[in-house]
Amino acid sequence: MGDLDEQTGWGFETRAVHVGQEPDHTTGAVVTPITLSTTFAQDGVGNHKGFEYSRSGNPTRAALEACVASLENASFGFAFASGLAAEDNVLRLLRQGDRILLGNDAYGGTFRLISKVWEPLGFPWSAVDLTNIDTLAAQWPSDAKMVWLETPTNPLLTCIDIEAIAEIAHSHDAIVVVDNTFATPFLQQPLTFGADVVVHSATKYLGGHSDVVGGFLALDDETLADRIRFTQNAAGAIPAPFDCYLVLRGVKTLAIRMERHCANARAIVDLLIGHPAVDRVLYPQLPDHPGHAAAAKQMRDFGGMVSFTLKSRDGRSGEAAALEVVTRTSVFTLAESLGAVESLIEHPGRMTHASAAGSPLQVPSSLVRLSVGIESGADLVADLAQALDHFA
Ligand code: PLP
Repeated sequence: MGDLDEQTGWGFETRAVHVGQEPDHTTGAVVTPITLSTTFAQDGVGNHKGFEYSRSGNPTRAALEACVASLENASFGFAFASGLAAEDNVLRLLRQGDRILLGNDAYGGTFRLISKVWEPLGFPWSAVDLTNIDTLAAQWPSDAKMVWLETPTNPLLTCIDIEAIAEIAHSHDAIVVVDNTFATPFLQQPLTFGADVVVHSATKYLGGHSDVVGGFLALDDETLADRIRFTQNAAGAIPAPFDCYLVLRGVKTLAIRMERHCANARAIVDLLIGHPAVDRVLYPQLPDHPGHAAAAKQMRDFGGMVSFTLKSRDGRSGEAAALEVVTRTSVFTLAESLGAVESLIEHPGRMTHASAAGSPLQVPSSLVRLSVGIESGADLVADLAQALDHFA
């Protein structure tokens, strides 16, 4: 994984702290100012300092866009009001009748956007197993123009070989969109493996503190970037300057947070493996995990998300056990979302992925998903252990 940036010669951590964030020319402030002004003075008509109107461009947003684009090794970056707003802008790259191939494990909101908003407008989609490259190549639908994948996926943490998918998709003139929310650019840079567009819910690890909703797109292709820039302005789903500031502040510590998330996740996996209450542990580092080879190839480390299923025991179903375990922790908070400093626990079937019930993207009812935070690993292990021991 190329750590040094061609443009700056800086490593990831340096770019996270400095790209787009030079000290303010007028005051010397080392923190990027939150520019609230909606409009910007012009010396003559059309003669301005790069900003005209804040929907089209804003200095705080420009700093965030430059920084995260650099972290993704991308030529262009665009910030949005939410991850789903960013996704909606990507889908606008399609023409009516173009088919979307959606990986068969994905965030429920992505499934809802594609199946409930875009399909009725004339954009067909299919759920596909993206781990099965040969079948995808053999059964490629002639109208497919976009492959949409998460790696690792939400919530089963399956990993997909981005390079292999890009090769097939590009041979059919389709574009590859990778939702990099779970991995973050610190662990994985999809454009370097041939993806065309990288999507983020900046609400998660980029922001990192559960205090801002945001989205991001990173890409290299200038023609696609021009179209995204156009819809970002024309449809206007832009983030507020304060939200841009919060994401930018979060990004500065992304690398060290991710290292801690990964280390804590490993400690949790060690607890879960072999625990009598646990049926399956889903974590990309495990050699028998679907897509482990893809994860080992394209990720620096295996991430801070861990999922597991619970056994049915003594007349209690795995689902009943899962629904109870999520209420028995005290350091892990029962809540939706992920990717922040605090550890969260949830039941995807009833919470984040409820909208996928009855669809090909339905998740197992005995599944529990953990977003492992940056607290003391020992405290997290002890907290989860006492919740699980109840079912052992
Ligand atoms: N992508 C993934 C993988 C997510 O988990 C989420 C939200 O949970 C989204 C996209 C949507 O992002 P947002 O909630 O910021 O709109």
